[in-house]
Formats: sequence, C-alpha cells, structure tokens
Amino acid sequence: MRASWRQRIRFALAELLYGSSGRLRRAAPVIRSRRPNAVYVLGLHRILNPEQQRRAHSLPGMVMRATTFARLLEFLGQNFRVISLDEFLSGDREPSNGRPACLITFDDGWRDNYTTAFPLLLQHRLPATIFLATGFIGTDRTFWPEQLLRAWQDPALREQIRQRAVQAGCKAHSEPEAWIECLKHMPAARREDILRPLTEGIGGANGDAMLSWEEAAEMARAGIRFGSHTVTHPLLTYEDEATVMRELSDSRQQIETKLQQPVRAFAYPNGNWNPQVREHVKEAGFACAFTVRSGVHRAQDDLLTVRRFLLHEGCVVGRDGNFSAAVTRFRLAWGR
Ligand SMILES: [Zn+2]
Repeated sequence: MRASWRQRIRFALAELLYGSSGRLRRAAPVIRSRRPNAVYVLGLHRILNPEQQRRAHSLPGMVMRATTFARLLEFLGQNFRVISLDEFLSGDREPSNGRPACLITFDDGWRDNYTTAFPLLLQHRLPATIFLATGFIGTDRTFWPEQLLRAWQDPALREQIRQRAVQAGCKAHSEPEAWIECLKHMPAARREDILRPLTEGIGGANGDAMLSWEEAAEMARAGIRFGSHTVTHPLLTYEDEATVMRELSDSRQQIETKLQQPVRAFAYPNGNWNPQVREHVKEAGFACAFTVRSGVHRAQDDLLTVRRFLLHEGCVVGRDGNFSAAVTRFRLAWGR
C-alpha cells in the first residue's frame, strides 16, 4: 500500500512527537491523562483474520486486522485503565497510576466480534461493549453498504446502482465509496427503493455475517456488555419521530429479552444525532449514548452525546504497515 501525502505527514508528525527517538517527545501533549475523569472511548467495527478479510466487503474504515487489534490491546493494557461500561456509567473513571480510563466499544454486531475479537479480549482480560443493530442479529442479512460493495463486482448490477442513484439525486462517481456516502444521507425507506434490484440480485451475508443471539449470549456470560444500535440501522436524523422511538425501544427490548441484561447504553448509527433525536434517546430511558465525534469524554460532558475515537487499521499502523504506538498516541492526542 502506498501512503498518501496525508498519511506521510501523519507518520512524520507521530514519529516526531511520540516515536522512541522523537525529538519533540518531551514537549508533546501526551495522552492527556491529567484531566480528571477523562475517558478515551474507542469505537471499532470489524476485527478480521486473513481468511475473513478475503471474504469481507466492508470499507477500510470499518476494519482492523486481528494482529493489529492484538497489539492495540497490549498497548491499551499498558497505557490505560480499561474500564467496563458499568464503571463508565457509575462514574468510576479515575485514572490508575497515571493511566487514564478507556472504554472499548464495537458497533453493529459483526460475527467477527465473536470469532476474532472476543478471544483476544479474553486473553488480555479487557472488558468491551458491543452495540447491536438487533434486526440483523441471528439472521442471514447484512448491511446495505456491504451488499452494495459486493454487487459492485457485477457489471450489470453496478450499472443499475449507478442509474438509480443518479435518478435519486446522487452525483455520478467512479468509486463505490462515494455512492455509499451519498446513499447514506436519506430516509431508509427511500434508500431501500433505490437499492431493491441490488438486494434482490445478491444472496445472504456470506463474508459479512452478523452475530447470532447464542454467540452474543456466550459473550454476555463472559462479561461483554451490550448496548442498542437501533433495529435496522437507519440514520435517525432522517427518520420521523415514530420511527425513531420504535427503533430505540424495540432494539432495547430485544436485547433485554434475549440476553437478560439491562440495556442502558446506545450508539447512534453513523453517529448521527440532533437535539430531537437526543431527546428521544433520553425518553427511551438510555443513560448514555455514543457519537462518532472525535475527542475525550470529560466529567462534565453530556452523557447522551459521548465522543469516541473511531479506530480502524489505517489510523493505528505506521509506515511499515504494522501497529504503531506512536501513530496511535498521535490519533488519541489529536483525533487525526
Ligand atoms: Zn453502525
């Protein structure tokens, strides 16, 4: 992989500020541990071994390699006090030996969270929270961006996607990523109309499978906590009030029934929230809700719009393509 100029600048700055021989190391704002009760909430999606990586269709921003994740956990264990969701909610966020608190979260409920991430979390004895889009759990269905990326490999389907997306007002693009970005920002029902030929044209989840309820239950017994991520994963800022309330309460109820644990945490799909959506989350009885706005969560910050650092392979590896503590520190100190 050739690094873009942006990546090259990031590598150089990370090395200068946080590398072992970094010349500005002493002056760099370290992971900002001195702020009282600051929590670094990390947001991940998929953790894949090489075989899973070959079969998956997710965008690079959704994915981290298992070997990188293992190194990340080692780094977190050494530099942070990794807390559970229960500790986060009870306000127990004190640093320990100068190590700030950190909460590990996953969005969506991908099967690889069970097959690949869970054994590594157990090995490192670190707690984590998974936000489930409950309508997909225990089914053969997967998310529309993965379906779109899979359909993109078929020229006939690709042409259909193009035509229909342009008719729906998207600008013509050559990269599927740009189509996905355009198709994200609309009510789910409208998108379903546009993408129907695609969903009819391709089959089940294949390499993009979601968790079963049995897998989730096994993880719950081992201490993994679960939160809601709606039922069907719509961007809530584009949906009407009744839909938002239904998505919130149904997903919560399903998790509570299936896993027999109270659900108090929510993660906004794609991080999309506004004051009305936030109010509905509060009405639905959630104690905290997570966005994808980058930054540290501080003691006085709103618990219904908690910031998170989204992490994927590209933002924690260095020039050589392997996990880099310097690049990760840079990401967590600067949000880039
Ligand atoms: Zn999501």
